[in-house]
Amino acid sequence: KPVLFSGMQPSADSLHLGNFVGALSNWVPMQEDFTAIYCVVDQHAITVPFEPASLRERTRVTAAQYIAAGIDPEKSILFVQSAVPAHAQLQWVLSTITGFGEASRMTQFKDKSQRYGADTTTVGLFTYPVLMAADILLYQAASVPVGEDQRQHIELTRNLAERFNSRFGDTFVVPEPHIMKETAKVYDLQNPTAKMSKSAESDAGLLRLLDDEKVTRKKIMRAVTDADGEIRFDRESKPGVSNLLTIASVLSGSSIDEVTAQYAGGGYGDLKKGLAELVEATFAPIRERTNKLLADPAELDRILARGAERANELALGTLDEVYERVGFPKPV
Ligand code: ATP
Ligand code: MG
Repeated sequence: KPVLFSGMQPSADSLHLGNFVGALSNWVPMQEDFTAIYCVVDQHAITVPFEPASLRERTRVTAAQYIAAGIDPEKSILFVQSAVPAHAQLQWVLSTITGFGEASRMTQFKDKSQRYGADTTTVGLFTYPVLMAADILLYQAASVPVGEDQRQHIELTRNLAERFNSRFGDTFVVPEPHIMKETAKVYDLQNPTAKMSKSAESDAGLLRLLDDEKVTRKKIMRAVTDADGEIRFDRESKPGVSNLLTIASVLSGSSIDEVTAQYAGGGYGDLKKGLAELVEATFAPIRERTNKLLADPAELDRILARGAERANELALGTLDEVYERVGFPKPV
């Protein structure tokens, strides 16, 4: 089976609807056709301001949410990035074949460094995409399922793999991005032209998997729409309503046209009520299973330790070859 790698940052107390629709829900069926490797990328999460205690907690919660949503730790390799030293080791080697100008063109860095300001923008944030390349190349992943926001980072990963291969000899599989469809992109409910994001400035537009039903319903009922009152999909002139229709379509498994027809006669209130029910039906079982997993920390630790062991074995195979090719002694 071909290898697949993907991950998420433990950068919030809960994953959100965008992470679920755009990533997690697609990861689950992919476990059948790939050797799937799913990582909680805690080393990426320290590239922006963070608290150690909440990072520790968020890493566990994120892993529990993977499992709760259907990632099977027997079928797939599920682990925490910092538990496998080869990620940082390979990152160093890759950073020496990454152009400074090349890294400077990454739009996520430009966005985040602008948001956090010059004093908080670190070299770690700058080299984030190189660590991500190491994550992927270590496992010889052929496929990387991600959202559109990660396309540029995968392109860099491909360039680094090709560059290393041509300079030092064939070592890495050059991965293909598996970009989720535009319909898998979820926008902020208060700011429906920006993607729903863990690090959004306002909380009101973010639907968290672990939030209380009441909180989620209130956020949906207050979602920004428009003044014309017509239920119609039009991303350009009706971004708010189009986002609600997209979410309803993905969660119900019906097409946008079907969902539009279903609510066409009523007002936005009916659409929002229907959506709140769909969201709760999706979130409730995940929330329940997550809480159950978190109630047994020893078992979760055991699962993650086993995942790290399997990941480490694969990663060391690649690192060994890289060290050999660049003229380093065998890695330890
Ligand atoms: P952060 O704000 O900390 O970057 P994030 O919400 O962007 O958090 P990530 O951990 O960076 O989440 O991304 C995890 C996965 O979720 C990636 O595959 C990403 O493409 C996907 N994803 C993130 N936000 C959305 C969204 N709004 N819609 C669809 N997919 C998304
Ligand atoms: Mg992100």
